This record gives sequence, C-alpha cells and structure tokens, in this order.
Amino acid sequence: MSKTRIKYICGNCGFESLKWIGKCPSCDSWNSFAEEIVETKKNSSAITSKNEVVNLVSITSANESRIKTNVGEFDRVLGGGLTQGSVVLIGGDPGIGKSTLVLQSAEKISGIVLYVTGEESLHQIKLRAERLKVNSENILVLPETELDVVLAKVDELKPTVVIIDSIQTISKSDFENAPGTVTQLRECTALIMQFAKQKNIPFILIGHVTKEGYIAGPKVLEHIVDTVLQFEGERTSSFRILRSQKNRFGSTNEIGIFEMHDTGLKEVTNPSEIFLGERNKKITGSVITASIEGTRPVLLEVQALVTPSNFGNPQRVTTGFDYRRLSILLAVLEKRARLKLSSTNVFLNLAGGLRIDEPAIDLAVCCAIASSMLDKPAPSEFIVIGEVGLGGEIRAVSHIEKRITEAEKLGFKKVLLPSQNKKSIKSSSLIEISACDNVLSALELLFDNVKS
Ligand SMILES: [Zn+2]
Repeated sequence: MSKTRIKYICGNCGFESLKWIGKCPSCDSWNSFAEEIVETKKNSSAITSKNEVVNLVSITSANESRIKTNVGEFDRVLGGGLTQGSVVLIGGDPGIGKSTLVLQSAEKISGIVLYVTGEESLHQIKLRAERLKVNSENILVLPETELDVVLAKVDELKPTVVIIDSIQTISKSDFENAPGTVTQLRECTALIMQFAKQKNIPFILIGHVTKEGYIAGPKVLEHIVDTVLQFEGERTSSFRILRSQKNRFGSTNEIGIFEMHDTGLKEVTNPSEIFLGERNKKITGSVITASIEGTRPVLLEVQALVTPSNFGNPQRVTTGFDYRRLSILLAVLEKRARLKLSSTNVFLNLAGGLRIDEPAIDLAVCCAIASSMLDKPAPSEFIVIGEVGLGGEIRAVSHIEKRITEAEKLGFKKVLLPSQNKKSIKSSSLIEISACDNVLSALELLFDNVKS
C-alpha cells in the first residue's frame, strides 16, 4: 500500500514544506518552491538482502579497475579515472562547456560510450562533434528521456561508460510529477545509482545550475551520487576549472584546468606559465605567490589596487579570495605595519580566475596591498609565501619544497618565506632564500622603507 500527498519542495536545495513559502529557510532562495506529489511507501516487514559476507582481504581495490577518460586533467580530479559502478555528477552554469568536456572525453575513453541526450537533437550533437573534431565509432548516441528505456538500452549494450546530458531531462513516467521536479530528479538519480552499482557501469550525469526556475538544481543530488564535480569559469575568461566538491573515490582538493578554444577544450598542464603569462613586472600592487592546488603547485599573481576613498564607506572588492580573510589582513596591516588603510578603497584580484582558500598566500596579499598603497613595485624576481596571523606574525606553510621547486622551474631567483620554513629546507636549492617572521619586516625587505 502506498499513499500520495502533496508537498512543497525547494527546487534549489530540496527542502520540504507542507505549505508554500516564498523564501526557502534552508538556502535563502526566493520563489523556489513548487507543488509536488510525494508517494509514501509503507515499509514492508520482510527485508531480504542478496548481498553476502565477503572477507576484507579478498575485496579488490577500486583503484585497480579505474576506467581512464584519458583526459589527464579530468582523470586527476576524479582521483585517477572513473571507478566501476560510480555515478559522477558534473554541475555548472549553462554554456560553460560541460557537454564539450564529456564529448571530448568520450572520444578518448577506450571502449563503448553511450551518450544519452535529452537536451539536444542528434543533428545538434553531430554539429558539436564536428566542431570539436570528435569522430569516433565508439560513441553511441541515444536521444531519450524515459529512464526505463535508457536503463534497458544500457543493459542491452553493456557500454564501458554512460553519459546522461542532462539529468534534469530524464524522467520516469510512473512518477506523477513533471520532468525536472525535485521528486523526479531524486528518484531517477537514486535508480541510476542502484543500477550502476548492480551492473558495475560508471555513469556521468550532467546537471545544470539554475538559481531560479522550475528545474531543480544539482544540490538536491549531491547526497545521492558518489562524486560531484563543478565546472566553472568566468564568461569573459577562456579558462575553465573542474573542481571536485565531493568524491567518494579520491581527494576533493584536486582541480583540473582547461582552456576553451574554438575547437574545444585544451588541457592546461603548466598552469603557472599560463597564469603568469600576462604579468607586467613593473606595475605596483602585483606579487607572485605559490599555492598548492590538490597535489600540484601553482604560481599565481596577486593583484591589489588601493585608492583613496572620498566617502565615509570605503569599498573592498575581492575576486578569487575570501572577503572576510581580506578584512582580517587589512586590519593586521593597519595595526602591525602601520599602513593607514581604513579610509582607502581596496580591490584584490587573483589573476586567471582562480579561487584560492589557502592561507599560504596571505603574505603575498599583504605585500600586494602594501605595494599599491606605497606606490612601489615589488621586486619582480621575488616569490612570496607565508600565512599571516593576527599578531602580524608569519607562520609556516606546508609543502614548501614543492612550491620552491616550481618557482625555480619558472625562473624566479628569490623567495620570501616564513622563518619556521627555512629551518626545514634540506636541499641546496639555487634560489636565494629570505626568511621573515613578521609582516613589517617582510614589507621592509621588499620595499626598503615602509612609510605611508
Ligand atoms: Zn532551498
């Protein structure tokens, strides 16, 4: 026996309510609630399981059977490739290049790839494939939106990988709600998960991020699937970053970097070179630092612009860096380095569209702000690394040798780093090391005379 009743569900996060609400109490989005029919199944008393007890030693490791997409940056974010029977959700704004990424990867996967399209017609897919110069006999395209038909086809063809573009278009006609509603999305994804695990076939689902509208966002699915990847980038920049938000089979720190061209996505295997490519060495407010993204060091340029504010409320704008962290660093500079920043506008930007949460770039942010404030360019042969504490002290950072090696590789001659880190450096590197233990001495080393 099952009962049906009506509920109101937030299309963004899946929050459920018995009455309609204008603003979601869980994710704060407006007008996101829609009426849906919810079926409540009565628990059957007899639970049977077909699973058997297995000795831990005899279980094969997931790493052994990974399916490589053979797109290095994609495999890196996945943790070394697709795991058998896993479900990967790729989210991102419409038009950012999700379909391009999966289609290009499909060509490189060795084995049959079933591409289920609910969004585009066969003709449109062909056009895209021609533009990307993807021409593989291993890619089978199925224009279908009914889940049962899709799964039956997968069962029949037994492909190596299944791609569903997009999950929001897939529905199951037994459910009473319209395609794209939270209930449909959740139920269909749960069924795909079950099926993938049973048949040991990995699924890649594409999900659109929609702030408003009826189509439910991938947030609802995050708990269900194994891996959630976010494909992001600025509209104006050609760089695209694939970021892992959840990964049952790998680290969530890894990022994959791509560049969008007319003919599709190209992997960026040397991000430091690209991010530093447009640097002007004589400009004030620019400092180079080394961050660790996942397991790989990335050199990047921190840009700051400090201007006097004529109004009572100075502006603070940051791109790629945490706003609250910037406020803290400004307060530290004001108090510990005696820079009068309280009545200035401060704009901070990480070049290349990267977003960094790592405190190891704190010192570079401080130096960039000071450089713009003092109107003195930072010496261009320097790379600046260190976390800054509230007392103005510079704290040690992890993976210092990796960062230094990357800086050396790109031709930097000097590194400014925390005193604590200097002690731990064993190798006799060619780079000249300057160590500081507080912000003021770091600024004095870079800019000789800190007086504003
Ligand atoms: Zn919500």
